[in-house]
Amino acid sequence: MKVLVINAGSSSLKYQFFESETGEVLAKGSAERIGLDDSSIVHTRCGEEKVSIDVDLPDHKEAMEQVLGMLTSEKYGVIHSMMEIDAVGHRVVHGGEKFSSAALITPSVKAAIRMCIPLAPLHNPPNLTGIDACEAAMPGVPQVAVFDTAFHQTMKPRAYMYALPYELYDEYRIRRYGFHGTSHRFVAERAAEMLGRPFEEVRIVTCHLGNGSSIAAVKNGKCIDTSMGLTPLAGVCMGTRCGDIDPAIVTFLMEKEGLDMKGINNVLNKKSGVLGVSGVSSDFRDLEDASGHGNDRARLAIDMFGYQCKKYIGAYAAAMGGIDAVVFTAGIGENNWAVRRDIVSGLDFLGVRMNEDKNKGLRGVETDLSADGSTAKILLIPTNEELAIARATEQIVSSAGGEG
Ligand code: AMP
Repeated sequence: MKVLVINAGSSSLKYQFFESETGEVLAKGSAERIGLDDSSIVHTRCGEEKVSIDVDLPDHKEAMEQVLGMLTSEKYGVIHSMMEIDAVGHRVVHGGEKFSSAALITPSVKAAIRMCIPLAPLHNPPNLTGIDACEAAMPGVPQVAVFDTAFHQTMKPRAYMYALPYELYDEYRIRRYGFHGTSHRFVAERAAEMLGRPFEEVRIVTCHLGNGSSIAAVKNGKCIDTSMGLTPLAGVCMGTRCGDIDPAIVTFLMEKEGLDMKGINNVLNKKSGVLGVSGVSSDFRDLEDASGHGNDRARLAIDMFGYQCKKYIGAYAAAMGGIDAVVFTAGIGENNWAVRRDIVSGLDFLGVRMNEDKNKGLRGVETDLSADGSTAKILLIPTNEELAIARATEQIVSSAGGEG
């Protein structure tokens, strides 16, 4: 099945076009600066050089039409007509409590995504705009929503509730949702394959460590806990996000620094994390460079990140009653060997022991990094959220076809 995967942001529309059975990427790219000056489409046909074309993109609908134009063009295309697109899979950030799996998009599914806008005001509106643009440009082609929150919907109330007045949960659905679910699921399933055991019988801690980072406890095929919360601000410290802090700091800072809601949100989301601590950068490559040149705050930021991740692994091993694998994925998890080493150091008592020679310098290659005799495996598994979305889309469309 040929599946187009769309990740629509406020001013961009990223796409990957798959042959979903084989996982082959036929073409990929993004429409950039939609609704702004100097907009363009960056497009790569599989195995060829990237091309960048300046084109006026007043809105997402035009961007979608231009993307379809690229996919079907003689010069850059991979199909003759848009009729060859069997389905479209959309990344949708927040599915609230309504969606525990991907869903075929209908007017009622769109209404439910709209209902979740208060929970993801920056993400769900552009996701919906992307869906509308595809519906307009490709009428009749099945569209599927794949939610970042869906995999975490198996958490029990004791894991997802906050100790706030219960009425606030009733009123606003304030609870832990968790994010990066498509990635956590993808790498956890692969980890079970690498362990040679059924997904339904293993206890895995998945560490998705990138600019945004989250950690999940996956027990017997289900997510039982995860570090992000109502929003992607919670959990371990991140590139620019603070992660878990004492909530009283919020009102303290608002008072002391005279910040309004926008101001405090800006501090916690954009000025904190390893950038805020180091004063250097949100990128771990810059931090390591600075730390190597004697910058103590850069070292501190790296150490804080590793320590916080380690604590989550310990907590989740306790929550699951043991641990069969720790998985590292995403930009830092896949590429930064020193951070991986620091996170698992001292976890021998859990049976987590690394083969440091194998780990050292390794980047982006699926590898078992555990030492001989380590009872839990340490696995580097590159994530592929787009492929996971394509596969989920294929599954939903095939089963809907079967029912029809
Ligand atoms: P992500 O949000 O998944 O793209 O991850 C971004 C983070 O991953 C940054 O802090 C980078 O330092 C790190 N990262 C991404 N690619 C590499 C690489 N090739 N080598 C080292 N670190 C990388």
